Amino acid sequence: MRIDIATLFPAMCEAVLSESVVGRGRKSGFITIECHNIRDYTLDKHRRVDDKAYGGGTGMVMQAQPVYDCIQAIKEKTGEERSRIIYLSPQGKRLDQQLVKELAEEEHLILLCGHYEGVDQRVLDELEVEEISVGDYVVTGGELPALIIADAVARLQEGVLPNEDAYSIESHYNGVLEYPQYTRPEVWRDRRVPDVLLSGHHQNIEKWQREKAVEVTKVKRPDMLENKEK
Ligand code: SAM
Repeated sequence: MRIDIATLFPAMCEAVLSESVVGRGRKSGFITIECHNIRDYTLDKHRRVDDKAYGGGTGMVMQAQPVYDCIQAIKEKTGEERSRIIYLSPQGKRLDQQLVKELAEEEHLILLCGHYEGVDQRVLDELEVEEISVGDYVVTGGELPALIIADAVARLQEGVLPNEDAYSIESHYNGVLEYPQYTRPEVWRDRRVPDVLLSGHHQNIEKWQREKAVEVTKVKRPDMLENKEK
């Protein structure tokens, strides 16, 4: 799978995507992620990419031309016919694990990061982008939301995590939250690891984990169980 990120701050994205699990997954070739600087596509001699909003207002708006040319260059470079172009936007469909799974099955994602007041509507219409939001709040730019998508999608690619269990036995994957986790020592500040986990009895351990997952979900996110029953 391939992800291209169009941004005014490629270094910010690279810094995050070069580290840890995703960084190793990229190095090992399990996923390709490239960050592109929209500013490289401006035709303005001062390398400007934004201008004042028609109709007034305090913030600047990203201009259509550099965004369009950047996305076209990505399409030409990758030669992908069926690229899914996503504009990160607080107005978009809210991201959840179901949508992450769907995105992870795509061949190619292009993630467009807005900044300032956002992007000229005409380029969004021209590119027929799909809008995705990371939640009902506003951050300063699309970079952090794009990184969330890239990370969540990358960890579902074969080879990025050690095996399928590493992501399938995880909160939200099967509609419940994960059971509590413990590591050494067995006793810490008089708090003991539950006996069943030390028993070595795999069936009992799995039963405990299943029951705890439901219990934790009931307490922390009862809405998830209600949705499951529907
Ligand atoms: N003026 C826009 C509005 O009110 O809908 C918000 C612009 S926001 C300050 C700048 C950029 O951050 C957006 O273009 C978008 O790319 C990104 N952004 C902000 N909040 C986001 C969210 N919740 N999900 C995804 N992207 C977001």
